[in-house]
Amino acid sequence: MSPARRLAAARVPRYTSYPTAADFTAAVGPVDAARWLNAIPAGESVSAYLHVPYCREICHYCGCHAKAVRRDEVVDAFRLSLQAEIALVARHLGSPARLGRISWGGGTPSVLGLDGLAAVLGELARHFEIEPDGEHAIELDPRAVDPGFAVGLAGLGVTRASLGVQDLDPRVQTAIGRIQPPAQVERAAEALRAAGISRLNFDLVYGLPHQSEVSLGETLAMVLAMAPSRVAFYGYAHLPARRANQRLIDEAALPGGEERLRQAEFIARSLEAAGFERVGIDHFARADDPLAEAARENRLHRNFQGYTDDPHPLLLGFGPSSISRLPGGFAQNESDVGRWRTSIAAGTLATRRGHADGGDDRERAGIIERLMCAFTVDLGETAGRFGDELALLRPLAAEGLVVLERGRVTMTPAGRPFVRLVAAVFDRFRTEGETAFSGSV
Ligand code: SF4
Repeated sequence: MSPARRLAAARVPRYTSYPTAADFTAAVGPVDAARWLNAIPAGESVSAYLHVPYCREICHYCGCHAKAVRRDEVVDAFRLSLQAEIALVARHLGSPARLGRISWGGGTPSVLGLDGLAAVLGELARHFEIEPDGEHAIELDPRAVDPGFAVGLAGLGVTRASLGVQDLDPRVQTAIGRIQPPAQVERAAEALRAAGISRLNFDLVYGLPHQSEVSLGETLAMVLAMAPSRVAFYGYAHLPARRANQRLIDEAALPGGEERLRQAEFIARSLEAAGFERVGIDHFARADDPLAEAARENRLHRNFQGYTDDPHPLLLGFGPSSISRLPGGFAQNESDVGRWRTSIAAGTLATRRGHADGGDDRERAGIIERLMCAFTVDLGETAGRFGDELALLRPLAAEGLVVLERGRVTMTPAGRPFVRLVAAVFDRFRTEGETAFSGSV
């Protein structure tokens, strides 16, 4: 088996955090989260993430915490609980905090409607000082964006939108249960730009059924004509044992590990040829986009949404399944919407699991983040303590994927697609034979 196939078949986390959410445990609960919220320093600028777990329908390929919703009463009830959670979290702060960045994700946040989004933002403004220059980003389904909605979002202060594009080939769209013709995506992008939301991310996916380099080339040509400032290209993670909706995907039409690797390389080559700068493993940005600037200046970070220029070390997560990064560790909310609502209604933080910082967690988190963001890390004087890890990397060095030099670990250009494997060597929670994660490419 070739190194590429062997490595592509390996299953390792995406390291949007360390430890990863899969390694969180029920040892962390509301009491810990309350203590950690109380420890946020006075006047600290933090980020907020609001998770809206509903979509009008569920796409076959979806791997998010999302449920189908038809009835507006369900959405309204959720929104009231979200507002109650904001007030509850604010009551646990030891002193007032400022919000330096707001991000909406899901699910489809637009199911709240403009009035619902405004009500939640009003609740945030009642309890936090919202910094006027902070980024305010939202994930959008292009099918739900029209000119009136775009103007409304701009009026709410939204500065960046991520459009879920995935793929523009009708055959692929049919196979993944998400029909959105290119003209519809184009109209959504134009509406947002006309409203003044000019920072647009396009989220695309490779490794989907029926995709080929030819079809991806056609999708990329249409995407480039729509001139996004960022493109994120994620590998589809097929986990039908855990995701019932993914059983609707025809496995026979999925590309294999080597084909996925070729698709990822083709996408990177095409976007770089079109003037995008590569950021980490799966993001591409125009040179004047803040993400590209952060990458050039070594200010890039990982968070639960991928690569970010967000400098705030602390994050408040609101909504079911959302994760907060607090002074003592990670606290993740209950994922079940009903149980999350019950907890909030009882006046109890909805923390269900998490991880309390301990041992050398922060040091390992820093090493993994530098590898994922910059493809190199200098272990410096600590290299002696990571002798076992460096020994594990020697076979990869022999294959020309990584260079080990006086305590510095650097991915070679050929090795970059496999950086998650190298990061995993520094992950003390990593267990052999883990199958819950997606393939490494
Ligand atoms: S719109 Fe996004 S979150 Fe909703 S079902 Fe489709 S992939 Fe999942």
